[in-house]
Amino acid sequence: MPYKITGKNIKNNIVEKVEEISGQNVFECYQCGNCSAGCPVVDYMDIAPHQVMRIAQLGATEEILNSKTIWICSACLQCSTRCPKGIDVAKVMEAFRTINLRKRVAPLNPDEIDEKDLKELPPIALVGAFRKLTG
Ligand code: SF4
Ligand code: SF4
Repeated sequence: MPYKITGKNIKNNIVEKVEEISGQNVFECYQCGNCSAGCPVVDYMDIAPHQVMRIAQLGATEEILNSKTIWICSACLQCSTRCPKGIDVAKVMEAFRTINLRKRVAPLNPDEIDEKDLKELPPIALVGAFRKLTG
């Protein structure tokens, strides 16, 4: 009998954690690409949103955890509103960020922010960055 890929035989701990945190089933994605087509920052990502879903299905979650994509995602929800399968892709992105942040893997260290930036950036930008990019 040919090997059949299902959510049960390919899930790893990280995928299970992503599903637990996000409440989304990544295995429902059928790769239509609508999420990536509407993402306003996809050009700055190293892995497009629909590829994140596919890589998660294949269990290669380290690639996603180490990607720029999850930090560049602005949580605008465009992908979530466009998905014909009703998958909240933004929540999946957030779940990957959360897993990293829980391990203290964060792209922003408040102690390393340039003095000039601290003076010039709007406080709300700093608050938003601290909330999203620090553990
Ligand atoms: S929530 Fe993130 S991945 Fe989705 S469209 Fe917005 S920026 Fe792109
Ligand atoms: S829009 Fe939904 S079904 Fe289509 S690729 Fe993105 S996550 Fe998958």
